[in-house]
Amino acid sequence: MLGELVGAPHVVSCSNGTAALHLALLGLGIGPGDEVIVPDLTFAATINTVIHAGATPVIVDVDRRTWNMDPAAVEAALSPRTRAIMPVHLYGQPADMDALGAIARRHGLRIVEDAAEAIGANLRGAACGTIGDAGTFSFFSNKVITTGEGGAVVFRDAEAAQRARRLRDHGMNPAKRYWHDEVGYNYRLTNLQAAIGCAQLEQAPKFLARKQEIAARYRVGLARATGIEMAAEIPGQRNSYWMVSVIVDAAATGLERDEIMRRLGEAGIDTRPLFYPLHEMAPYRPYSGNRDFPATVELSRQGFSLPSGVGLTDAEIDYVCATLTRLIETRGVARAASAAAR
Ligand SMILES: *Cc1c(COP(=O)(O)O)cnc(C)c1O
Repeated sequence: MLGELVGAPHVVSCSNGTAALHLALLGLGIGPGDEVIVPDLTFAATINTVIHAGATPVIVDVDRRTWNMDPAAVEAALSPRTRAIMPVHLYGQPADMDALGAIARRHGLRIVEDAAEAIGANLRGAACGTIGDAGTFSFFSNKVITTGEGGAVVFRDAEAAQRARRLRDHGMNPAKRYWHDEVGYNYRLTNLQAAIGCAQLEQAPKFLARKQEIAARYRVGLARATGIEMAAEIPGQRNSYWMVSVIVDAAATGLERDEIMRRLGEAGIDTRPLFYPLHEMAPYRPYSGNRDFPATVELSRQGFSLPSGVGLTDAEIDYVCATLTRLIETRGVARAASAAAR
C-alpha cells in the first residue's frame, strides 16, 4: 500500500524510521571508509545512522530559502571518500533534488533521501523518497501516517532491497532457517503495527489533503503578522506540511522567538522550536570540519513549528493566527509609543 501511495517498486517495512535509514545505508553497501554528506538542520537520527553504519558523516549547511541541504555546500564538501548524499525533506519541504542529483551523477554518488517527514511531498509529481537510490519514511506517533513506532525504506534496486530484508531479519538466510550469512538486526515491523499502518494508509489521501488545507489557512491567517515567514512555496514542489513552521524576524516583530513561543504557550498554544544545529552538539562536533553554518544557525534560532495535527479545527487555526498577529501588532504599538515618548 505504501509502494502504491508513493510509487515505489521495492518497499521494506521496518521497526522505525531510524532503522529505515540504517537499512538504506547498509542495503546500498555504505560503511567504514565512506563519507556521507548530511545537512546541519535535521533530526539527529539522520546523522546517527551514518555513524551506526560505520561511515563518516560530513555536515553541511542548508539553504536559507528552502531550509534544506545547500547543493553548493555539498559540492564544497566533496572528497575522494564521499560515497553518498543524504538530503532531508525538512518539515515536508522537498530538498533541491535536481541540483543534488546532478552532483551525484557527476561524482558517482548514491542518494539516500530522509523522507521521514515528507510522505505526500513531491517534486513535479515524483514522490519524495523515490527520487534517489533509497528513501525512508517514519511512522512515529507524531508523523502524518503512524503505527506508534514504525518505518519503511524504499529502494530503486531490487537486490539492495533484498539485502535490507535479510539484515532486518537477523541476517538469516531466507532459504535456510537459523543459518546466518552476515551479522544482522531485528528491525521488523510487527503484524499488529502493520495492521494499524494499513488502516492509516486507507486514510492517507484525507490526511494529506487536510495538511494542505491547514498550511493554506495559516498562510492566509498570518499574512498580516509582520516578521513571521512561512516556508517558501517553490514552483513544481509540493510540501507535505508535516509541521507548519515559521521563521521570526525579531527586528520586525519586536519580539524574540522564545518570547513569542512563551506567550503563545500562555494562550494555550503549543509550539516547538526548530531542530538545533547538529554541529553545535558534542557527539557531532567532530564532523563539522572547518565549515560555516550561517543559514542553519539563523533558522534554528529564529524558527518554530505551529500546531499542525490533522485533528485541528479551522477555528483553532484561526485562533492561533489571531493570537500571533495580535501579539505582534500590540508589540508594534508599544514600540511606537515608547519611541514617541523618547
Ligand atoms: C522522525 C524522523 C526520523 C526518525 O524516525 P523514527 O521513526 O522516530 O525513528 C528520522 N529523520 C527525520 C528527519 C525525522 O523527522
